[in-house]
Amino acid sequence: KQSRTFEMQVIPYFESHKLLVVRDITELYQLAQIRRDFIANASHELRTPLTVLRGYLEVMLDTPGEHQTTWKLPLEHMETQSLRMQAIIEDLLTLSTIEADSITAVKEMVDVPKMLHQLEEDARQLGNENHHFVFDIDDALVIKGFAEPLKSVFMNLVSNAVRYSPEGGAISVRWFKENNTVVYEVEDEGLGVAQEHIPRLTERFYRVDKDRSRVTGGTGLGLAIVKHVLERHHGKLVIDSVLGKGSVFRCEFPVK
Ligand code: ADP
Repeated sequence: KQSRTFEMQVIPYFESHKLLVVRDITELYQLAQIRRDFIANASHELRTPLTVLRGYLEVMLDTPGEHQTTWKLPLEHMETQSLRMQAIIEDLLTLSTIEADSITAVKEMVDVPKMLHQLEEDARQLGNENHHFVFDIDDALVIKGFAEPLKSVFMNLVSNAVRYSPEGGAISVRWFKENNTVVYEVEDEGLGVAQEHIPRLTERFYRVDKDRSRVTGGTGLGLAIVKHVLERHHGKLVIDSVLGKGSVFRCEFPVK
């Protein structure tokens, strides 16, 4: 016999009463599962042919000969584009892993300060000489969570701050506790985002300026990954931005 999936919600009702609403979401759940599996399988299948293409490209770029004169530039473009495709496939796989693992994975203690000090070194490589990084980390603050997904959240937000601050400026990264919330915050003085776009930024492939995002090497999936990882930690992403001034991306993790 097939099992069914239910969603339960308790809502306040008349005076001190409460209402328990039970919804049968079996079909919705199955559809979501089918969509997840499809994306995971498609990404996985695309990986192999792409690796073969990249292999040939590398050989052609490394082999001296007549083709180097006419084809060097097109070959280099092909290499750049295949790298982009690879990054998108990897991010799609990351997203489906995060979604699929949500029921089974077990949280561990994560040494976030150590991770962020490592990120500080990587960030300086990412930025240009006009970026000024300020890292303000509470070294005693560790949380329970999923290490690798958290690392990609931290990295994604810093890489966005760098990519959307073309003129440079300060990029502040903070890790601190505020009442019952642990906060990871990245602030930049870059392009900013108009208010109407903010609610949609975490949708897959949603971009304010498609061309710019492509040129700067994003996959269009960074903030979708951030949102999903935070959901798995029962946390949330708060975006505060002023067009032309800069943005603050704030991840809030509830702690007991
Ligand atoms: P992308 O690969 O396009 O950067 P993301 O999911 O990381 O994909 O971000 C989605 C969109 O949100 C970006 O295309 C950009 O328009 C906007 N965005 C993200 N971070 C910032 C930022 N720090 N400043 C301004 N806009 C940003």
